[in-house]
Amino acid sequence: MSSRRVERFAPSPTGPLHLGHAFSALTAARGADRFLLRMEDIDTARSRPDWEAAIEQDLHWLDLDWERPVLRQSERLPLYRDAVARLTAAGLTYACTCTRGDIRAALSAPQEGAPVTGPDGLVYPGTCRRAGHPEEANAIRLDMAAAIAALGGDEAVRRLTFTELDEGPEGQTGCIPLDPDALRTGVGDIVLARRDIGTSYHVAVVVDDAAQAITHVTRGRDLFEATPIHRILQALLDLPTPLYRHHRLIRDADGKRLAKRDDARALSLLRAQGWTPADIRRAIGLSDS
Ligand code: GLU
Ligand code: ZN
Repeated sequence: MSSRRVERFAPSPTGPLHLGHAFSALTAARGADRFLLRMEDIDTARSRPDWEAAIEQDLHWLDLDWERPVLRQSERLPLYRDAVARLTAAGLTYACTCTRGDIRAALSAPQEGAPVTGPDGLVYPGTCRRAGHPEEANAIRLDMAAAIAALGGDEAVRRLTFTELDEGPEGQTGCIPLDPDALRTGVGDIVLARRDIGTSYHVAVVVDDAAQAITHVTRGRDLFEATPIHRILQALLDLPTPLYRHHRLIRDADGKRLAKRDDARALSLLRAQGWTPADIRRAIGLSDS
């Protein structure tokens, strides 16, 4: 049983599927014993039921099928809240009252040096680490240094690894250890829960990959930098770690990366222009012929 491969496709229903999504979904489904679909719709301001329906239609058109029920993250917020509460009870979080403007201003102070950009954007300067006011919090953040200490310190964190079955942006592959210095300075005190949505992508994804017993995560290489965050959250929350495959990014004919908002290459549009599923497979290099 343990060798059964459980894969998922986890789109955010905030827009149409593109060729890159088709590559993720088809690659994940191809070798899977069980293939699951998860709607990552925690951003309720941007997620829409009609995008969900359109996504399912595109996937069916590609001849994919998946187990029911489809897991919908917007229905699971209490579970994500519990996970953050566990980290808070362990003393590993703090309330952040900063606005985006506050963070930019703090980072532009001369003593701060050059701002560092991490997987979630600008690395938070830690302003609220000691002075948070939970009642006014805009976000709950992970105290990364405290988290590393709680896991047993730098040496212990270096022994935490994840397996990359494809490769990262710099050719990283195989068994990849976490880097405590990179986590502290290049990732920093990430947001675990935004006030408006009560959680974050990172918390929801590790809770759900565990809940769905996912053995293999297939997703684009643009998410490779998020995986050390997921790995440390799995360690802190005692969750299993799947294997990861971060695939090459699919570019359009001009070699441009397909942006999420670039609807010109939406699968539905290609379909309307007469493309067949076989044409899609050929365009992304997945055809057997
Ligand atoms: N929901 C994410 C996206 O559509 C994918 C998350 C994942 O595969 O881990 O970009
Ligand atoms: Zn703050």
